[in-house]
Amino acid sequence: MGEPAYILKGQVIDGTLDAPIARGAVVTQGEEIAWVGEEAALPPSYARSGAQVIDLPGRSILPGLVDGHIHISFGEARSEEELALYTPVEFRTLKAVWNAKKVLQAGVTSAFDAATTFNIAQSVRDAIDSGMFEGPRLAVSGRQLTSHQGLEDSFPNWMEFPPGQAGVLIRSRDELVEQIRYQVKDGVDAIKVSGSNDSFITPDSLDGSAFTYDEYRIVADEAHRLGRMCTVHARSRDAVADAARAGFDVIFHASFIDDEGIDLCLRNGCVIVPTLPLLVNAIEATGGSANPANAGFQREVDAALTNLGRASRAGVPLVPGSESGWSPVPYGQWHAREMQIFVDDLGLSPGQALHAGTLGATRLFRRFGGRVGKLEAGRYADIIVVDGDPLADIGLLQKPSRFDLILKAGRPVDRTPPAPRRPMHYERHKMFLNGIFHYDQEAGRGVLRR
Ligand SMILES: [Zn+2]
Repeated sequence: MGEPAYILKGQVIDGTLDAPIARGAVVTQGEEIAWVGEEAALPPSYARSGAQVIDLPGRSILPGLVDGHIHISFGEARSEEELALYTPVEFRTLKAVWNAKKVLQAGVTSAFDAATTFNIAQSVRDAIDSGMFEGPRLAVSGRQLTSHQGLEDSFPNWMEFPPGQAGVLIRSRDELVEQIRYQVKDGVDAIKVSGSNDSFITPDSLDGSAFTYDEYRIVADEAHRLGRMCTVHARSRDAVADAARAGFDVIFHASFIDDEGIDLCLRNGCVIVPTLPLLVNAIEATGGSANPANAGFQREVDAALTNLGRASRAGVPLVPGSESGWSPVPYGQWHAREMQIFVDDLGLSPGQALHAGTLGATRLFRRFGGRVGKLEAGRYADIIVVDGDPLADIGLLQKPSRFDLILKAGRPVDRTPPAPRRPMHYERHKMFLNGIFHYDQEAGRGVLRR
């Protein structure tokens, strides 16, 4: 392991629900954590070593953040069209690598990719793991399995299902099994099912389920047989209940979960990743709830805050997710927002929210989950040093400018922002004008209306 590299001193918040150590120290050695404890108990051999001591007043030392729901291949798309139709796969991939660095620079040292276009997420994961590029450790699902009633079948029936969509259309039970085997061969860590529709796609998204209970069972059984986790996009009551009953490991959103769904989650050990920043940011970016266009989003947010608060109090583990990759949630900026929502709106304490976004989130990571999320000897030295106390102000975690140091595998993350870039013409909608240019007869000139 070599010589100790860093001795970090300050309040130690280790990722568990234990009380923090007010005057603590963390020692790193090579890519691992070597020692954690009270500063007063620091073994003298470390103090005598050539390790760099970082001892600034008022600092907190905590595990690197874990984001339970990102899409590294989505490129900050503004619509399903931009996601599915525009930008060549090669350019998307390079962009994803460029964006991955921004995620890491926000202190997110591990993230779950909850659906990719093509096989980009797998390749970005491997490019980071192989040491070519800087980014968070990724666990990835492939393209999500959708029926005609699921989120990703968002284009009209008279179109071919676009190959650039972050989903794959399933037409039969045989295809369910075939697609899982195919994706496992393509290197996914998890299977993702599009279990319900979405407010962004259709106004009747909040009821019903895209698959039957029997079909969820087929997915869960086959994914688990092949050693993969099983995850579902489920906003509606029915999709949550059927997927939970079938033994899915992770439920994304769960906005309309009811008591039956909560009970099934508890019985089957399901984790919920609400991933509310997409909805909340979309509302905030467009005039708030006063804008009638946001009524559907607002109705879902209101329901989710009520229902997920109940789920959390009943004991269902919540893990924060940002949904980074869509334009309302650009990379590197909103990863800690859901922890803030947990505290402000779901009744978690800052300590509980921080646990959910570190050690608690490792429930989503089979490959390296036992080696991240906690400040503990033997785990990876994925650590952030924060100027201030996130237990007093969880919002600090959304301000990487307040992080003195981000370590991944014991090495300081380069904080230089990626060079600014120009969007290419082929990334965008082919839009002539964002509105209608009406002729105003009184004024004798044109007026642009949205
Ligand atoms: Zn998502």
